[in-house]
Formats: sequence, C-alpha cells, structure tokens
Amino acid sequence: NLSERLGRVVKNLRGQGRLTEANIQDALREVRVALLEADVALPVVREFIAKVKDKAMGQEVLQSLTPGQMLIGIVHKELAALMGEQAAPLSFASQPPAVFLMAGLQGAGKTTTCGKLVRLIRERGKKKVLLVSTDVYRPAAIDQLKTVAGQAEADFFPSTPDQKPIDIARAALDHARRHFHDVLIVDTAGRLHVDEAMMEEIKELHKALDPVETLFVVDAMQGQDAVNTAKAFNDALPLTGVALTKLDGDARGGAALSVRQITGKPIKVVGVGEKLTGIEVFHPERMASRILGMGDVLSLIEEAHKAVDHAEALKTVQKLKSGKGFDLEDFKAQMQQMKKLGGLSTLMDKLPGAGKASADQLAEGEKQMKRVEGIINAMTPEERRKPELLKASRKRRIAAGAGVQVQDVNRLLNQFEQAQKMMKSLGKGGMAKMMRGMKG
Ligand code: GDP
Ligand code: MG
Repeated sequence: NLSERLGRVVKNLRGQGRLTEANIQDALREVRVALLEADVALPVVREFIAKVKDKAMGQEVLQSLTPGQMLIGIVHKELAALMGEQAAPLSFASQPPAVFLMAGLQGAGKTTTCGKLVRLIRERGKKKVLLVSTDVYRPAAIDQLKTVAGQAEADFFPSTPDQKPIDIARAALDHARRHFHDVLIVDTAGRLHVDEAMMEEIKELHKALDPVETLFVVDAMQGQDAVNTAKAFNDALPLTGVALTKLDGDARGGAALSVRQITGKPIKVVGVGEKLTGIEVFHPERMASRILGMGDVLSLIEEAHKAVDHAEALKTVQKLKSGKGFDLEDFKAQMQQMKKLGGLSTLMDKLPGAGKASADQLAEGEKQMKRVEGIINAMTPEERRKPELLKASRKRRIAAGAGVQVQDVNRLLNQFEQAQKMMKSLGKGGMAKMMRGMKG
C-alpha cells in the first residue's frame, strides 16, 4: 500500500548508497550501446559519456532505484539539456523581409521544409511569405518548389535553370523588398556529398542575402554521416539553427545529438512527415527518450522522483507528529511542494472536498504564492523559525527586501497563523488522510 511504501522511503531517505565507478559501470555500458544504436557518432558518445560520468559520481541513489537506473535518469536529463538548453524560436529580427536561407545535402528535405516553414511563420503573425529556388542544377527542382509554394499558399518568385543562383537571389530579394514581403525563404541546391563548388556557391548566397536564419537541413536517417556534413556546413556558414527531417521514420535520432554537439546550434524544427503539416518545434525531452530508447526504465525513474516529492511532503507530516512546531520554513516548503505537485489547480483537483476554482482565482492564487515566497525569502532563518520575532522594524526591512508593502507581510503572517492552526487541528489522522488523497 502506498502510505507504507512512502513511509519506507522517508525512513531511508538518508544514508543510501551513492553512485560509484563500480556500481555504474554496467549501466554506462548500456547507455553507450544505446547511443551507438541510435547512431550518435562515436566521438560524440565518448565525450558525452565522460561528462555524464563526472557529473554522476557521488550522487545519492533514490530509494526504489538501482544505481544503474539512477545513472540512466541522469543521462536522460543531461541529454535533454544538451540538446535544448535555451528555447530557440525562429528569428525574424531584421528589417523585413527577413531572409531564411536553407542549406544541406540533396534529399535532406530543404524544399519540403521551405513549404512547411510557411505555416510556422504565419503562426508567428508574418503573413506575406515569398519562396524562391536557386537550384538550377536539377530540372525539376524549381517546379517542385513552385508546387510546394502553391500548397502552402505562399508567393512564388519564378526562376529558370539558365540563371545564376546569385542573380536569382538578388532579384528575389529586390522583389520581396518592393512588395513588402515579411519573409523570403531561399531554397538552394544540394549535392549528394559535400563539395567545394557547392560550398562556395552557398557562401556567396549568404553574403548577398544576409539572412536572419541560415538553417542547416539534415536527414535524421543519415546517422553517423550527419557529423561530417554538419561540420562542413558549420565551417562554411554561420548557421543559426538546424531543421532535423524525417523523424517520422525509424531513426532513433542520434543525429540530433551529433549535430547539436558538432555545430553548437539549436535544433529549431523537426520534420515528421512528407506533407506540409509534418513539422513540429523541437522537444529535447522527447528526443532524449527516443535516443535512449529505454521507455520502461525511464518511466520507472520518473515514478521514483515522484515518490521522493511525496516523501518530502510526508516529512512535514512526520515533523508535525513529532511535536516540533510548524514554522515559516515549513510553510514555504509546503508551498514549494504544491508547485512540484502541479500547482494550485492540480492540488485543488486532488484534495477531496475542495471545490472547483475559476481560472482567474487560480491565477491570482499562484501570484500570491509567488509573493509569499518572496517575503519568506527576505527573512533570516531565525525569523522563519520564530515568527514571533517579527515586530514593526523587522517587518519594514522584510517588506523592503521583498519589494512589497508592510501590510503584505502582515497578511502573510495571518495566513501562516491560519495554516498553523489548521495543521494542529488536522492532527495525525487527518493529515495522513489528506496526503493519501493527494496521491497522483
Ligand atoms: P531537398 O533535396 O533537400 O530539397 O529534399 P526534398 O525536400 O526534395 O525532400 C527529399 C525527400 O524527402 C522527398 O521525397 C520528401 O517528401 C521527403 N521528406 C522531406 N522531409 C520529410 C519528413 O520530415 N518526413 C518524411 N517522411 N519525408 C520527408
Ligand atoms: Mg530541393
């Protein structure tokens, strides 16, 4: 039963094992195999593993997890962080037209992605989009973009195979300026392999167009080769982001990690289908799960983390039972706990007997919680343990520190007193029952 299980967790929270070289060895090997199977390039795997190992060593193992599972949890978190530390939306930060230049090998998905981007761009409020193809080498390439433009209901700037790419680009930019387009997307030619002539051509295009987005389009199925391609393009061009295509296929997506590691540039969008609707913004967490391909272990780890959150809540209860008073530290911990468990709205749903609050009430509640936390943060530890110390001059100092009025501090102290009373009256059975009610 749950409360028994949680009880055990609380008892064993301290003094558990830590991660050591020996107890993570097997799991590290598993992770290595998983990454290689996902087609992450070998040098990237090596560097990543070394980094994670460093970070993991000495960390405490959560109850109900083995050291190996614990390590895999850390790996998952690191993977996600590595691929998406900062959110990376498409940029339009320029005098319109904002130029997007597409770069990548033939077949990577450049032309398709041009059409897909139109929708994302429109969602950002940029309505007038112009597409142009500088792919003069394959007879069908220009027509393909024309079709795509038609499907996406974007404007199309015609070009012909006898023109020079640079001339096409200049004419399109000029047209986009004169017709007040918000965005100009420039499709380019790709070769089957990276070659000098192709790199020179796209460098020249980049110079003439001065794009705000230079997107490297790469096929997720490319696996190990993605590293070399990414390196070549990253050396030649100041890339601003990556479009990773064909994620609807079987590819485990190791290319995402490789490309991110090699270029240092964020993955901005992913292609998930041949149709123009098959585009999504990039989710690092999901990609990390996909790369690791350890669904079962990962959900186990998530459960264990949840159990710890509940255990922290139970600790408060234990403390109350043991007769140690409920102070402002506990009050704050309680609020942080609420946040972890999904904020006020989730909590209201889970608390038996609590009515439904309106969205406005909830938003106001969350705001108040933030203010309260700010006020408690402005107190000294001693003041938090002994709120009775809080006389006028201390209140003024705290209010100033938290950027609020003295009356806000008073209101908080009232709330705290009420909570304190409630805690007392709930007593042993009541509180445990409430916690059981909250079980997610
Ligand atoms: P380009 O040579 O770089 O312009 O590549 P294309 O845009 O012509 O795409 C090459 C092939 O990949 C076409 O058959 C596309 O339909 C297909 N393709 C592009 N993106 C995706 C994707 O996200 N998923 C799938 N399944 N196919 C894609
Ligand atoms: Mg193309």
